[in-house]
Amino acid sequence: MLRTIVDDISNEICKSADLAECVRQLHSDLEFREAAENVSREFCELVESLNTNTALYQKLKSSEITESSRLDDVDRRTLALLLDDFEQSGVHLKDEQKAKFVQLSSEVFNSGARFQENCDRIVSVGKFDQAKYGLPSQIYSPVSNSVDQSKRKMVYNTFYRHDDQQEKYLQKLISSRHQLAQLTGFESFAHRAQRNSLLEDYDNVKTFLWGVVEKCRNSFEKELAVLIDISAQCNQYNIDSSKQAATIADHDLGFLMHLYREKAYDIAKVSRESSQFFTFSSILNGFSTLSQRLYGVQLVEEPLVSGEMWNTAGVLKLKAVDEQMNELGVIYVDVSIRPEKAVGDCHYTVRCSKYLSDATWQMPILVLSLGLVDGHSHMWRDSGISFHSAETMFHELGHAMHSILGRTKYQHVAGTRCPQDFSEIPSNLMEYFISDLGVMTSIIRRSDRPSDQLSVEAAATLLASRHSFTAIETVQQAAYGLYDLEVHGPIAAPQIATGRMTTTELFYDIMSKAMPHVQRSPDSAFQHRFHHTVQYGAKYYSYLVARASACLIWQNRFLDEPFSRKWGDCWAEVQSHGGGHHPAVLLKKILGFRPTEKELTIALSKESQHLANLDAITV
Ligand SMILES: [Zn+2]
Repeated sequence: MLRTIVDDISNEICKSADLAECVRQLHSDLEFREAAENVSREFCELVESLNTNTALYQKLKSSEITESSRLDDVDRRTLALLLDDFEQSGVHLKDEQKAKFVQLSSEVFNSGARFQENCDRIVSVGKFDQAKYGLPSQIYSPVSNSVDQSKRKMVYNTFYRHDDQQEKYLQKLISSRHQLAQLTGFESFAHRAQRNSLLEDYDNVKTFLWGVVEKCRNSFEKELAVLIDISAQCNQYNIDSSKQAATIADHDLGFLMHLYREKAYDIAKVSRESSQFFTFSSILNGFSTLSQRLYGVQLVEEPLVSGEMWNTAGVLKLKAVDEQMNELGVIYVDVSIRPEKAVGDCHYTVRCSKYLSDATWQMPILVLSLGLVDGHSHMWRDSGISFHSAETMFHELGHAMHSILGRTKYQHVAGTRCPQDFSEIPSNLMEYFISDLGVMTSIIRRSDRPSDQLSVEAAATLLASRHSFTAIETVQQAAYGLYDLEVHGPIAAPQIATGRMTTTELFYDIMSKAMPHVQRSPDSAFQHRFHHTVQYGAKYYSYLVARASACLIWQNRFLDEPFSRKWGDCWAEVQSHGGGHHPAVLLKKILGFRPTEKELTIALSKESQHLANLDAITV
């Protein structure tokens, strides 16, 4: 059958190309990285030539009809996704349109790359401002934790100042994407980007995001009131700004939250008390305990064979085994901080789990990369890590487990190869587990004294500090999602493309509606530094959908009984389908219903209501 043959070809390519990509990003030897880059480039060309192979596409397309009686739901969905991949390369277009498609694609790539290069640009500070605010000649970040409000404002607004060059790149990117979408029959790029996603179309996404803003409004204002109170207390000592005591600006938010957390929770003391519990080893063991209780899957360390890994400092190999000690897959974890290693926490599927024609399973191999410890220290396994890093480890291990549990017929939909709003659910759900007081205190144990338990008080303080200002962060994320959606949307995109509107105007408009009590400068252009516009293009919001879905699963299935084997097994079964079914079908299996955008919104607002009751403090 043709779809199986095409999927087998993809599997062979992925097994090499995905490994090359991982080596390119992580290998400690420059020559290996360069060789891997050449391999990656050649694979890109090979894939591109296959994806634009008209004969292959047409054969596959006709098999939709000729083989229709033999197709089940998974076959049909995989076939549709394979065809979609071809169509994303413009294979179905007429020659003239095809040329246009290729030209637009390369414009998208080039303007996106130029834009991204400039996102982290350093800003120079003039001599006058250097002297006035006591600043260095260059600034690298928008954050100033100075008590002087005017200095914070100056640093923030200088860092985020509208940049004409960035605007040009962005304008080109948006314009090319809009034309590309229209060429392939969509109203806008924001419409096109929602294919195969949980919320399915542009309007539902818009309703979801504005729903989050509205439903979180009360909690948001409560949290803001706490910050305004702190701001007023600070301003008593700040003669310049005492007139503005009752307002708050975007450049104040980070600083005031930081101040609140410092004063409200005795973090230094709690960190000292809990440091022995938060090490790389203890968090890894905690995760293994959890997955053993939920799914009967244990992670067992295996010795590294010489030459098996590029680096042995800060790297370990884990074998995932079931209760009968059957091997389910291998995870390499690379947690060392190295200058040449790609930054950012990431997981790589080097080989996916899939059914093979000889009736066996292809054993999955995953690589997790995190920048946590100095790998050269002989104590790296017992190096202390923050609670935030522990959450990140659970998140990335959640992705790895999704691949380990995979049991799909096709590689094209194996494990995490599903729409992003679904692929981020297993990882987000793991964050709910580690953020639960009962779960945390029962699974996180000291490596040297396993019978010791983290005190409930210390755990509660860590969690309270971590989850303070959840409503503000949620509304902010929804607003960024709305910007990313609308900048690619049917109204703004043509206006931006023709210069009738700037992205700065659009961003200001959305932020002012979403966070009306927070003052901002109309010239402030956070979006000129927002990398995600390039990578996610009208889908940045999918993280929020995944979080809302994970929140629903947590609240409905695990909150009362976090170690429920019944629901653990059910969730493992759902994950085994990878992207073989529509996300809504999979969610129905675990929730018992298909969540609408309204239910997702309510889940997030409930959570923020619960967390928004912060006590006022004296600073
Ligand atoms: Zn993730």
